[in-house]
Amino acid sequence: MKLLERARPEILALQPYSSARMESGVAATMLNANESPWPASCTAPALNRYPDPQPAPLRAALAGFYAVAPGNILIGRGSDEAIDLLVRAFCRPGYDAITIASPTFGMYAVAARVQGADVTEVPLTPGFVLDAKALLAAVTPDTKLVFVCSPNNPTGGLVPLPMLAHLAQALRDRAVLVVDEAYIEFADGAASAMTLLDRHDNVAVLRTLSKAHALAGARVGVLIAAAPLVALVRRIQAPYPLPMPSVDAALSALSVSALAATDQRVTAICRERERMARALAGLAEVLAVFDSAANFLCVRFVDARKAWRRLAASGIVVRDVSRYPQLADCLRITIGTPEENAALLGALDARKAAA
Ligand SMILES: *Cc1c(COP(=O)(O)O)cnc(C)c1O
Repeated sequence: MKLLERARPEILALQPYSSARMESGVAATMLNANESPWPASCTAPALNRYPDPQPAPLRAALAGFYAVAPGNILIGRGSDEAIDLLVRAFCRPGYDAITIASPTFGMYAVAARVQGADVTEVPLTPGFVLDAKALLAAVTPDTKLVFVCSPNNPTGGLVPLPMLAHLAQALRDRAVLVVDEAYIEFADGAASAMTLLDRHDNVAVLRTLSKAHALAGARVGVLIAAAPLVALVRRIQAPYPLPMPSVDAALSALSVSALAATDQRVTAICRERERMARALAGLAEVLAVFDSAANFLCVRFVDARKAWRRLAASGIVVRDVSRYPQLADCLRITIGTPEENAALLGALDARKAAA
């Protein structure tokens, strides 16, 4: 796979750490990992053994759910870990770069800067649409990763699949197109970039159980990519990245009944999103509510600081994103329960606030 030649040579040459669990798996008497032979008295189930680095049952369940082969999956500590690992596997400090379409999720730039890699920012168009031509024009021989967030955090816009296919094709053998789909479940059945994997071995898709699956506290994210790319990233992942309680929670979340409940929550959030978009657009202090395919709305206010303070005074926190490029006076508002959403609208209503 030619793309792998773009990875850091020192990572390709690295002898990865080999953990006890990787070398020998599970046996009747396990005296190879310096674990306690007794469980702690305070935990049920027992946690005295190191976890399987990539538990086969969870890998199989996720592979089934995402309709890919288990070899196309790397499970990690949230998709944040996958972002970090991809940057560290590909970007040589002081030489290489990533490209992002801003405003977008902040972790891509942070991971790159921690690694000492450059960040090239290409602005979205004024309507918050990805400018594929400008993005490709910004890619240089030093660019190793191009991050596209779809639906985009914090603007909410979905990137059309044909545009992603075009980007993947144009970046072939040069850079990894990382498509972050943290919110795709809220995008009204939009096709995932996973459907591009068959024809584009330079696509890496990030999925997470943190948002639609309601497991942010478990920290489980998934990198889905061509098997050689997954194997490369696996070389630099920590030896035991997945805590057993998180693995159990993830397995439960993928049961038939849990998935049905997830569908219901997603439907409810999408319904509330449309209701909130209309209601917010009708408020005097709101200038614009941007179209969102995620579980939040990006809203431009006459005075975002003032709106933020009024909400805070009612015990409601939203995200002030006004420091992002192109997002002056914008707040990012997560869709909550119908009661929480009603409280937010009530707190913003100037007449009620004045009364
Ligand atoms: C929330 C979020 C993530 C983080 O997901 P984890 O799996 O919880 O690490 C990744 N990408 C985007 C765009 C997000 O908004």
